Formats: sequence, C-alpha cells, structure tokens
Amino acid sequence: MTYIGRFAPSPSGPLHFGSLIAAVGSYLRARSQQGKWLVRIEDLDPPREQPGAAKGILQTLERFGLYWDGPIIYQSQRHERYQAILDELYRQGKTYHCRCTRAQIQAAGGFYQGTCRDKQYPAKDAAVRLRLTTPCYAFHDQLLGLVDVEHRLAAEDFILKRRDGLFAYNLAVVVDDADSGITEVVRGADLLEPTVRQIALYQQLGWTEPDWLHLPLALQENGLKLSKQNHAPAIDGLPVVETLCQVLTFLGQPLPEYCFDLTAEALLDWAITHWQLSRVPTTASVHRA
Ligand code: GLU
Repeated sequence: MTYIGRFAPSPSGPLHFGSLIAAVGSYLRARSQQGKWLVRIEDLDPPREQPGAAKGILQTLERFGLYWDGPIIYQSQRHERYQAILDELYRQGKTYHCRCTRAQIQAAGGFYQGTCRDKQYPAKDAAVRLRLTTPCYAFHDQLLGLVDVEHRLAAEDFILKRRDGLFAYNLAVVVDDADSGITEVVRGADLLEPTVRQIALYQQLGWTEPDWLHLPLALQENGLKLSKQNHAPAIDGLPVVETLCQVLTFLGQPLPEYCFDLTAEALLDWAITHWQLSRVPTTASVHRA
C-alpha cells in the first residue's frame, strides 16, 4: 500500500515555526517511505481566516522546498460532501440536533451531558452532534505509544456542525482524510485530544482509521505553545536553509556537513534519506528564535 500523508494548515495566518515542524515532519515521514504528500487548506471558518493567508502559506511551502503532490484540497469547496455524510448519519440515527448554548454547557460543568439526545429537535437553529455509543478513550500513536485521553472529554457527544451552520473541524478532517486515502496523519501534539473523537467518528462511519503520529510542540519561553493565537512570528522573512536546519534539529534529526551551503531542496533530500522516527523527541521543548 502506498503511504499517503498530508499537511493541513488553517489559513488563519502565516506559517510559523510550529506549523513548519508539522509540515517538515509530515513531509519527511511520507517521502522517506516513497509516499505521497498532500496539502489541504482548512478554510472552514471564514471569520477566523486572514485574507491572502492560504496563498501565502502555499508560497512559503514552495520557498522552503516543500512540494506537494496532486491538487490542493480546499475545505470550503467540500460542503456538499460534508452535508451528504451528515444526512446519512442522521438517517441512521447516529446524530441528533442540539439547542444548548455554550453558556448552558459551561453552567452544567463544562462538558456536554447529552441533554438533547432524545429531544428530536428539528435542524433549524440547532447544532448537529454525534450520538457516541462507543467512545474511544485511548489510541496508539506511532511516536508516543499508547495515548490516553480524559474520559469525560472522550465520551462527549461532540459537534459535527455548529449552530451557526459551519461544519466542525472533526467532521471535515475525517471525511477529507478518508476521501484522500490518507494512510497516516502526522501533525502536532496539540491535536491529541481531537484524535479520539476522530477515531470514534471513523467507527460510526464504518471507515478504517489511518495511523496517527503526533510531533512534539515548540514552546515559547513562557511555556505557551507557538501558535497564531499566541502571535508566533511568521517564518516568511526568515532564511530558508537556516530555519530548516533548526526544524531538523528540533525533530532530533542529524544535519549534513556544511548544511548552510546547501539549497533547501538538497537539504530536504538529505533529510529524507537520513530520517529516523526514533530520534524524534516525545516531549515539547522551547524554541529560541
Ligand atoms: N488545520 C489544523 C491546524 O492548522 C490541523 C489539522 C490536522 O492536521 O488535522 O491546526
């Protein structure tokens, strides 16, 4: 079976060092197995998008020598497919409509208790939730081994479509990964918790889940993860080869001699042939720019 991996950025801002780790890590993992590497733009949430960010992300990937296979997938163009899956799940009684507000859920302890499970509300002004009959509490990660997730969180009937009509990340990511034939999801360890929800959804859909591999997070000096929300600086203006060397070092990978004299492409080719998953650290660490 051909390995198919992917990188799935949200266009809520430019790529930063943390997202470059996920891009490079997923790229090396795929290419070291002669696999394909796809790129998907997760533009599901227009209010959180920054105009021009998707184009900027793709240009940055190319600048860093990270060339993808096949056409780019845009989630904004897949609404019909997501809705078709939701309709089918509803027909099978696997979802229901929920009218609870965030404030009500907060007041009830912060976890959704299944309040609307048997209310038979119509679709209008309601969120769509998965009726979780067989929650998944733990999964095997290719790097981290067995990963356990807090039970209350894993057992929640999570949202597949929001009350405001936006499709939820957990729905879109499962449908897209399955439709693209992704064999292994490689991404940052900030997405460990959603993984059990995604596995539960694969099971409800009767689809085979991919393998999972979560890379260590890069932290700021203050211990917060590097993220757009925390205003992590964009990598756009940074020197390409030096920055790639920092990513490889962060991922525990060796560097070739005179690495700064190489092109990005040559450095990545070297990194593909020398890629060793066993050298990737399993815990987060601070990245000093
Ligand atoms: N779009 C998500 C992000 O930018 C990543 C989703 C995923 O890799 O599953 O954080």
